[in-house]
Amino acid sequence: MIGGGPAGSSAARLLATWGHAVRLITRPAGDARLAVSLPPSCHKLFDAIGVSAAIERAGFVRSTGNTVWWGSREPRVEAFASGARGWQVETDVLEAVMLDEAARAGVAIERVAGGQGGSSAFAQGASADEKDPHLHSFVLDCTGRSGVLARAKGLRKYDDGPRTIALVASWRRDQPWPVPDETHTLVESYETGWAWSVPVLAAQALDRAPSAVAALGWKPSSPQALDRHIAVMVDPQRSDLARGGSAGDVYLAEIAKTAVFSELIAAASFEAGPWGWDASTYRSDQYAGDGWLLVGDAGSFIDPLSSAGVKKALASGWLAAIVTHTCLVRPAMRQHALDFFSAREAEVEAAHARTSRHFLTEAAPSHPHPFWSERADESVKDADDTPQVSEAFEQLRRAPSLSVRPNPAIRIEPRPAVSGREIVMEQRIVDSDPSAGVRHVRGVDLLVLLELAPSHSHVPDLFEAYLRRSSPVALPDFLYALATAVARRWLVVE
Ligand SMILES: Cc1cc2nc3c(=O)[nH]c(=O)nc-3n(C[C@H](O)[C@H](O)[C@H](O)COP(=O)(O)OP(=O)(O)OC[C@H]3O[C@@H](n4cnc5c(N)ncnc54)[C@H](O)[C@@H]3O)c2cc1C
Repeated sequence: MIGGGPAGSSAARLLATWGHAVRLITRPAGDARLAVSLPPSCHKLFDAIGVSAAIERAGFVRSTGNTVWWGSREPRVEAFASGARGWQVETDVLEAVMLDEAARAGVAIERVAGGQGGSSAFAQGASADEKDPHLHSFVLDCTGRSGVLARAKGLRKYDDGPRTIALVASWRRDQPWPVPDETHTLVESYETGWAWSVPVLAAQALDRAPSAVAALGWKPSSPQALDRHIAVMVDPQRSDLARGGSAGDVYLAEIAKTAVFSELIAAASFEAGPWGWDASTYRSDQYAGDGWLLVGDAGSFIDPLSSAGVKKALASGWLAAIVTHTCLVRPAMRQHALDFFSAREAEVEAAHARTSRHFLTEAAPSHPHPFWSERADESVKDADDTPQVSEAFEQLRRAPSLSVRPNPAIRIEPRPAVSGREIVMEQRIVDSDPSAGVRHVRGVDLLVLLELAPSHSHVPDLFEAYLRRSSPVALPDFLYALATAVARRWLVVE
């Protein structure tokens, strides 16, 4: 296994827990720092990977939502649903916490020097695995943007569209920050890009580089004092970066174009940076083959606007462990498992790309500049089936009673799916996506729904019958699944 970020440490920890010998080769993070936001839904993945307690102990800032100035001067203060809380983390701290958990589970971790990374690390990874008969030639590329195996195999594909660079700096304030909620991620769109800010515990900066921070003569005013990473996303070709401008000058010039962020930094003191991060999106032609997988950002990079890169990396690491485990213990399932991983990673990347284009398109009319017009895509507005599902929901709500039956033309066939720690074949509805099929919508088992629906003439009765037969689901999810089944014509209304 190569690369010890969230994807690599997740896959490694799970495989070691399941009894496999795992060697992970990684290189230390560089000097550039980056704070990122993790949505509350990451908790399910932390649980599945077995690191929830360690994440809790790390004491990251827990966020209650986002405050957004998106195509508008009016803030949208968005709290996460049901009071849930996300995490604000510096990537190197998260990486250290997760690698430590992988080591505790028995993963042998080797750290190669920064300059020694790239193909030399890959060669070591491959030969290490070849010597180990248990893993034979399995190599998991978890090297993020470096993508040593992805590039060596010529699988990485960039869009023809514009590139994006993030310039990030850390700012400090002794007073609370003048924002609606100190824990929030802040996002502001402006004429030639967008800016965002993530709060992190100032004390964690002190822990990481005590001598450097002490040299500034600074101590956090309280253990809870927050620094903020403040970043701008710019198009390198359209900014002064392309004409040799310094990152610091470009950074300050971009912030000066913002309405809200310029006021934030006026009230703060500069701590460190700016650091440049390539944030251009890419994907792969294929994510798995015989004996190898591209995991997390090694396979694809989604727009940071989504705040979902780490969640995607954790999910990819989790699935990579299941697929690798299946290949090793159930060789007959090997090809199904590898195809499943490739299809799932492609689907996740495509779904995120659609969502990000949707957001970028939303802000574009407010900012008449090529940064926005080149990233907007009107066709994505109607790309999902939400209107049809809403229509089906209304149809069901208005009907005096429920009268549905499974569409006789529906195809139900075995397709690969996750069950516990293995890929198995299970019966799935096969229609618009014949390779994967679908079995669950919002956690609702569609085959149980299709079987029970014809014998119930009221939705509450059907819901109760479903709960008696299957795992518990919330009523809104059940209603959504029922409306989806009608909208997709898996159930036809009589
Ligand atoms: C500007 C920016 C903002 C972002 N904001 C967010 C956000 O708000 N929320 C969010 O969830 N995500 C965000 N992300 C994305 C997130 O950081 C990544 O998606 C996530 O870190 C991917 O995890 P990974 O394990 O796949 O890769 P990485 O975290 O990149 O880890 C790769 C690991 O491989 C190691 N490595 C690299 N090359 C080699 C080599 N040759 N040999 C050995 N080891 C190697 C690296 O040192 C590192 O340890 C952002 C990214 C950027 C650039």
